[in-house]
Parts: sequence; structure tokens; C-alpha cells
Amino acid sequence: MNYQKIISQIYNKILLEENKGTIPTYIPELARISPEKFGVYFLNLNQTQIGKGDFQEKFSIQSITKVLSMTMAYRELGNDLWKRVGIESSGTSFNSLVQLEADNGIPRNPLINAGAIVVCDILLSVLKNPQEDFLKFVQDVTNNSSINYSLRVANSEKSVGYRNFALCYYIKSLGNIKNNPIDVLDFYFKLCSIEMNCQELAHTFSFLANDGVKPHDGQRILTEIQTKRVNAIMQTCGFYDESGEFAFRVGLPGKSGVGGGIVSVMPNQYSIAVWSPLLNEKGNSYRGMKFLEKFTTQTRISVF
Ligand code: GLU
Repeated sequence: MNYQKIISQIYNKILLEENKGTIPTYIPELARISPEKFGVYFLNLNQTQIGKGDFQEKFSIQSITKVLSMTMAYRELGNDLWKRVGIESSGTSFNSLVQLEADNGIPRNPLINAGAIVVCDILLSVLKNPQEDFLKFVQDVTNNSSINYSLRVANSEKSVGYRNFALCYYIKSLGNIKNNPIDVLDFYFKLCSIEMNCQELAHTFSFLANDGVKPHDGQRILTEIQTKRVNAIMQTCGFYDESGEFAFRVGLPGKSGVGGGIVSVMPNQYSIAVWSPLLNEKGNSYRGMKFLEKFTTQTRISVF
């Protein structure tokens, strides 16, 4: 398979087409990004690596971080994690409050804001130095000690993150937040503010394409069974209320973030990251979705 050729062709074609969508303005710092940024990085487990466009430019990974916090909490708690957060698609927007009352404060899954906030609460309870320990974990998975939080982005979101405050306090009132909500939210905003480029993102997620083992050094991050389950959650819940659409059009487990990033894995084959800041009405990168749809169509490789 000539991945280089396929990636270049799709990338160049999409560049010529209209770029649609909006930049999220509810996090003021994110509104400053140029909408024309467009990067792709492909990493095959046999070590073929292909980068296109702005693949070396860092961006805010936002909700993509939720896969990493879920992974860390899964390592710490094992299956007890699922007592605090569910594994069903929510069918609602990423920051929705509506299901929590009926569900008694147990968020539908760890990849919506409510679920990720509960995961932050869990990590606050089990880690000695939560912010340092989580960052160290991400740096380790990425093999890159320069990965860091952006205080600018975290503070920007914190200054106006009213919905997330509402979610956290509401879950607290229902008994599923054990720590001080201020500390939980502070940690949550930090996690979302991590910055990576497409190359780093594809490397970070390659363990999920490789049965839970980092291809770079053979270090196991998750067991095979845990890896299967994390990929299943990405497949069914990774794109908010557009997860069905992403499975239908692309057919890979993955996760998006409002910073315009999408990362996907094809188990036993590759990981791929795409970044383009304009988002569709569901909050997923317009060009990112388009690129990945064309990519799995032309390569005829997807999990389905
Ligand atoms: N920090 C963002 C929020 O909580 C993450 C949303 C996302 O990327 O989907 O609203």
C-alpha cells in the first residue's frame, strides 16, 4: 500500500476544497488559532511515518486527553472504574447536563465532560501529586518529556467554564465527586490544556494500535483486554453525539477535541492524527472527519 501517495492526494484535494465550520469561542484562547492550519501524521506499526502540512505545530488537545486520563484511571482501579462512570454512548453533546439526574450522577461514559470530570476526581484520590503524576504518565506514553500543560489555555477555560462548574457541582450533589469541586475542575482544565502536535499525538496513541504496548520500547500501558475496551469506548463514544456518524463514515476508534484534533487507531496496524481547527456543529474537526473518511475509503482498511 502506498500510504505516502494516498495521504498526499487526499491532503492536497481537501486543501483545495472549501474549509467549513467554526472556531470554538467559548474558550477565549482557542479562538486565536488560524482556521487554515491543517496537519496529518500517520504512524504504521512497521515504522512507516508520514507527516503532511502543519504536523509539527502544537495545538490544544482538549478532549483527546480524556482517553489518557481514562487509561490512567483504568490502570489504577481496574474494573472498579465502571462503578463510577458508564460505558454507553450518550447521544447528547459533550457538555450536556440532562442525563445526570436520571442516571444518579453516574455519567454515561468517560469521554464526555461529566465522565472525564469524575475520572479527574478518581485520579485526585489515588495519585500522590495528581498534576505532576498525570503529566509524567503522558510524557512517558508519548516518549517525550517536553509535553506540557498550557497554563494560558487552562486559565482561559477556567475563567469562563461555567458549564463544567455546573456539571461538577451537580455530580457532587449526587455523591459521585469525592474531592473539593474546585480542585477537581482545576485538574480537569489542566488536563484539557495539554498541547501536542500531530506527530506526538500519533505516537501517544500507538499503544492502542499495538495491544496496549508502546511500539517504541515495548513498555506495556494496558493489558490486551483493557486495550480492547478502551478502543471500544473510543469507537462508541469518541465523537460526542456524532460517534455513530464517525463509525459510519470512517470506521475507526478515535477521539476528537475542540482544539480541532482527531486521533484514530487501526488495531494492529497504525495510528493517525489530523488537526484542522474549524469544527462542525457537533464539535468535531470538519477537515479531520473528511480526511479520515477518504483515508479509510481509499485504503479500504477499517475495523468494519
Ligand atoms: N475543555 C473542553 C471543555 O470542557 C473540552 C471539550 C472538548 O474538547 O470536547 O469544554
